[in-house]
Amino acid sequence: MNIGVLGAGQLGRMLALAGYPLGNRFTFLDTTGKPSAGIGEVIIDPDNQHLAEFLANVDVVTYEFEHLPVTLVREIEKHKPVYPGSRAIEVCQNRVEEKALFDRLNIPTPAYRVVQSAEQLEAAARELGCPVVAKSVTEGYDGKSQTVLKAPEQAREAWASINHTQLIVEAFVDFVREVSMIAVRGRDGEVKFYPMAENQHVDGILRYSIAPLPDLAAAVQQTADNYIRALLDELDYVGVLALELFQTRDGKLLANEMAPRVHNSGHWTMNGAVTSQFENHLRAVQGLPLGETQAIAPTCMVNVIGREPQSAEVLQLENAHLHRYDKSERAGRKLAHINLVAKNHAELLKKVQTCAALLPDAPAPVFHFVP
Ligand code: AMP
Repeated sequence: MNIGVLGAGQLGRMLALAGYPLGNRFTFLDTTGKPSAGIGEVIIDPDNQHLAEFLANVDVVTYEFEHLPVTLVREIEKHKPVYPGSRAIEVCQNRVEEKALFDRLNIPTPAYRVVQSAEQLEAAARELGCPVVAKSVTEGYDGKSQTVLKAPEQAREAWASINHTQLIVEAFVDFVREVSMIAVRGRDGEVKFYPMAENQHVDGILRYSIAPLPDLAAAVQQTADNYIRALLDELDYVGVLALELFQTRDGKLLANEMAPRVHNSGHWTMNGAVTSQFENHLRAVQGLPLGETQAIAPTCMVNVIGREPQSAEVLQLENAHLHRYDKSERAGRKLAHINLVAKNHAELLKKVQTCAALLPDAPAPVFHFVP
């Protein structure tokens, strides 16, 4: 099958790397003018002139980036199957729709309000109690277009700095850790769940993901499985879905946001699970049986941001796997990740510390569990 991918960044690159062994070919449609996949056939189409060429090349369409015009995806759906469908994109690119879906499915979230002016933002901050997080309803990712208000009086400044017409204001969650749930649903409705990962973000950007978690109660994993299954079934979803959650002191989970695609917090599965998220996404969109999702060993994904380390130094670590994205260095840019695999969590944590010391500007890794 020839797989069409909307977007041509590192997630598309890794989809292709997982798809070649299955006999797939890849055609990417890049609407940004700045593709970085460096693999397959890339059609650069910022002015929407080459859709027919793209469609003629592909059997099925998926995407690696959800901030796409829904009208474009709907147009493509008239000609070729698109997995996940445009409904998933529509929900995931709009925080109001996303929260409404969580509410409808009884998936708990931080308390929130929707506001359309600086005055409403100030009132919501008073009502929810500061600190609160204000986020643009559309276009925000990796912590962009959002700000924390320590006092309601900061509303005017926050409103101006985000500069959008509608914001979501959320109570600031005093979480013990951030976790994510990755699951995959096949065309026949079969669902498989990966073990949850613990994620460390700095300035809104993911730095470390570790899975499986030695201190995660089976009941908490089961709750997350139930939440994500509800979303997958409701959206009649096909492919990999990621759900980011906060875990609170009493062990409860609050949904933060979801992404209708393979996800950075699932990169550990490339070396730490029986089947990677990328392979399973491709199996799902082609209607193939899904692969097993168990972890094979404790694994940590270390993101390389802004500046690259010496490959040889990283690869000297035992059972370290370097995945570079063939991008040039720039502050805040995701350039590569390293998957570290170990026999147990104590050994893994030592390895993560050693690895972090090799990375320019890496923050200190901090995890919630004690091995
Ligand atoms: P988001 O773009 O919604 O994933 O937010 C980026 C990061 O900001 C999250 O990964 C959290 O670290 C932090 N954050 C977002 N919303 C909240 C919240 N309601 N309470 C505490 N931290 C938050």
